[in-house]
Amino acid sequence: MFRSIHPRCWERKLVSARNSKIHGIGVFANQSIAAGQILARYDGKILAAEEVQCELAAGNRYLLELPDGRVVDGSAGKELGRLFNYSCDPSARLEYREGVPLIINSRAIGRGEEITIDYGFDPADVTRFPCTCRKPNCVGYIVAWPYHAMMRRLYGAPAVSITPGTAGNADREK
Ligand SMILES: [Zn+2]
Repeated sequence: MFRSIHPRCWERKLVSARNSKIHGIGVFANQSIAAGQILARYDGKILAAEEVQCELAAGNRYLLELPDGRVVDGSAGKELGRLFNYSCDPSARLEYREGVPLIINSRAIGRGEEITIDYGFDPADVTRFPCTCRKPNCVGYIVAWPYHAMMRRLYGAPAVSITPGTAGNADREK
C-alpha cells in the first residue's frame, strides 16, 4: 500500500507481539531501544467512503485517517502497527512520514517493556472505552491526552501532572 519509505525502517524487528496485561495482544521491545526509532508501520486496507461509514457503524476501532483524507482499516493489516495498546502514559506516537503512518517511540524503552501509544480518541462516547493501562496517571478511559484533565474533572480519576512522553519511570509494575 505504501511505497515511499523503505521497508527496512520497520523490518528491523525491534519489537514483537505477545500477550499483554493491559489488553489482549500488545507490542513489546525485543531489546533496549533509543528514543525516536521507527518501530512499526500502521498498514491495512484503504476504504471507500461508503465502507468507512459501514465500518464506523460496526464499531471498527482500527480506522486511521491519512493526511490525504483516505481512511485505512488497520484490522485488515498484517504488520504490528495495529497491535499497540493505548495507555494514559504512552511511550510511542503515531507519526506520518511522507504520508506513511509509523509508530515511533518518544522516549528510550527498556528490553521487554510494553510499548503504548495515544489513540487520539475523541471524548464523545468515551465511557464505552475504559482504560486498563494501570499507569499512575491513568484517567480511566481511552481518550486523547489533551482531554485528560477534563476527564479527571468529570470522572474523578486521580489528578497528577505528568506530561506524555516524559514519565520514564511510570512503567514500573506495582
Ligand atoms: Zn489508562
